[in-house]
Amino acid sequence: MTIGNLPLAILVDRLKDQPIIVLVSMCTHFSDHATNHFVDLPRRNFLKLAGTAALSFGFFGRSQAADTNPPPKPQNVLSPDAALRRLMEGNDRYVEGKMKHHDFISERPELALGQNPFAGILGCADSRVGPEYTFDTGRGDLFVCRVAGNFADVNSLASLEFATAVLGTPLILVLGHTKCGAVDAAVKAVKNGKKFPGHIPSLVQAIRPAVKTAQHQPGDLFDNAIKQNVLLNVEKLKTAGPILSEAVQGGKLKVAGGIYSLDTGRVILIA
Ligand SMILES: [Zn+2]
Repeated sequence: MTIGNLPLAILVDRLKDQPIIVLVSMCTHFSDHATNHFVDLPRRNFLKLAGTAALSFGFFGRSQAADTNPPPKPQNVLSPDAALRRLMEGNDRYVEGKMKHHDFISERPELALGQNPFAGILGCADSRVGPEYTFDTGRGDLFVCRVAGNFADVNSLASLEFATAVLGTPLILVLGHTKCGAVDAAVKAVKNGKKFPGHIPSLVQAIRPAVKTAQHQPGDLFDNAIKQNVLLNVEKLKTAGPILSEAVQGGKLKVAGGIYSLDTGRVILIA
C-alpha cells in the first residue's frame, strides 16, 4: 500500500478502556501526531476504522506514548465548517494577491515528525489549478489528490480515507475548474463519439456519467458537465463506506465541492 509514492505501514494498538493509539509510519518518518485526532472519533467508529486500516495494511503492532505529543500544526485542528472557512479565506487572499509569507524552513522540523492537514483536496491535474496556491496554504496544510478531471477512483478514495481516518482531516473539497480539458474530452466523446489515444479513454469513461446527466440540463453542456462532475464526486465520497460515510454521519468530516475560475482565481462553492 502506498500513499503517493510513500510506502505505508500502520500499527494499531487497542487497549480496552484505555486511550487508543494509532501509529503511522511513512518511509522512515513517524506520524504519531496524527493519532491525537483519531481518539476524538466515537469509539465504535474508531474501532471499525482501526480494524479496517489494520486489516487493509496487514500489520498490527504496539506504539508507546504516541498520543502525548501536540500535532505539528495546532492551527490545523479545526471543525469541518471552520476548515472550509479557512480555505475560502485563503482563496480570497489569492484572488486579491495578498498571500501570506510561508516560512517553510521553520516549519520543517515539526512537519518531519508528522502531519495534520486541515483539508483534503480532490483536484484536477491541470497545471493552472494548484491547490496550495489557490487557497494560500503552506506545507502540511492540504492533503491533495490530483487527476485530470478530478474524479474519485479507488486510489484517490483510499488516499482520502487515509487522510480522514488516520490524519483526522475534517474536510474534503472536490475542486473542479472552468475550461477543464478532461471534461471537454468526455463531452466530445459522448456527443460526437470522438476517440482518444492511449489511456485517455479511461479518463473519459470516469467523467462520462457527469456528461450524460448534463445532457438533460438546460444551458451550456460543457459548463454543466464540469459542475455535474463535481457534484457526482462529492456524493460518491460522502457515501463511500465504511470510512468516509461514517465520518460524515458522525459530524467529523464535511465533503464540499467547488469550481475554480481560471479567469478570476475565485473558487465558487456548489456543494
Ligand atoms: Zn481539468
